[in-house]
Amino acid sequence: MHFEDTLEFALAMDARDPMRPYRAEFIFPQHDGRPVLYFCGNSLGLQPKAVRQALMDELDQWGTHAVEGHFRGERPWMYYHKFLQPQSADLVGAKEQEVVVMNTLTTNLHLMMVSFYRPTQQRYKIIMEAGAFPSDQYAMETQARYHGFDPADAVVEVAPKAGSHTLETDDILDVIRQHGDQVALVMFSGVNYYTGQFYDIPAITRAAHAVGAYAGFDLAHTAGNLPLQLHDWNVDFAVWCSYKYLNSGPGGPSGIFVHERHGHNPELPRFAGWWGHNEAERFKMRKGFQPMEGAAGWQMSNAQILAFAAHRASLDLFMAAGIDNLRVKSLALTAYLEFILENVNRDRPLFEIITPRDPEARGCQISTLTDQRGKIFSIT
Ligand SMILES: *Cc1c(COP(=O)(O)O)cnc(C)c1O
Repeated sequence: MHFEDTLEFALAMDARDPMRPYRAEFIFPQHDGRPVLYFCGNSLGLQPKAVRQALMDELDQWGTHAVEGHFRGERPWMYYHKFLQPQSADLVGAKEQEVVVMNTLTTNLHLMMVSFYRPTQQRYKIIMEAGAFPSDQYAMETQARYHGFDPADAVVEVAPKAGSHTLETDDILDVIRQHGDQVALVMFSGVNYYTGQFYDIPAITRAAHAVGAYAGFDLAHTAGNLPLQLHDWNVDFAVWCSYKYLNSGPGGPSGIFVHERHGHNPELPRFAGWWGHNEAERFKMRKGFQPMEGAAGWQMSNAQILAFAAHRASLDLFMAAGIDNLRVKSLALTAYLEFILENVNRDRPLFEIITPRDPEARGCQISTLTDQRGKIFSIT
């Protein structure tokens, strides 16, 4: 791609950007009376304008129907998770039954590990990337402890080679093979939150399966960032949040993926609640848990309707824009940022770009590392 480091060039790119109208669908914070340039969507996505009405609709539903809102109106609360399944499935490349929105991210990571981390004395290790998001580190550490293992032994971290910030796929696969039949679970992020590296999910999944382990992924920085094919890649399970790339508001709900080969196995252990129970029987209030088919069988509690409503409004925008179109734009925009940063750095190196240079090995992120002045250095 041909780039120029001028305002005219950037404005010309903008003018012929088919994604451009979507900018007007979001509320930008103001600074000195002008909308900010927002580079923090990886932490909290901007508010889609449609969220306000979506919340009002559910408040009206509550006001109009009170408890009958579970069964009446355009989107009865009883079935609310179904109104998010097609969009979620599309975003992560899954069948509708393989996904469900529920709870929050770290909670779901633990719930998935109840089903997919069942260590034995022989097979108990978890392989993960070094420098994973702290919540995931704490989850792995405490899961290992909960099952009576020493995390220092049970949790194996794959670290970058000296002088590098990112992982070689071969190194990841080697570590999985080295620990072989001691590996219970390979648990990676999709895109690492810090370096922006997009791991080779199909290769990691194949290697995990080859040693008889499960492969799980935390897609907090991946879902809504780039297209995924979780079903075809044969991933066992995945979890993600909705408030970062997916713009669904602070504390927004989480999504889970459970591959259909597990989702249709009622024998798979899980921590159950009434919302995962056979829908037709749910309000009979009887003993004996019968899980719903697919990921829905992992639901515990009734849906957090207001949070789900905001999520639905945001997902509608993703469906309208299309994740493949967003990826095209993201590849161009990220490459342009890289080009600008390299220009800034040319004469007097101020920082190091630690995100992989290969566009296929990253999402819409460029991480820079500077040994001095950090946040306050100015590139103008
Ligand atoms: C943001 C993030 C979390 C945060 O989890 P919550 O339970 O939603 O607070 C956990 N893991 C990863 C990888 C994240 O990026």
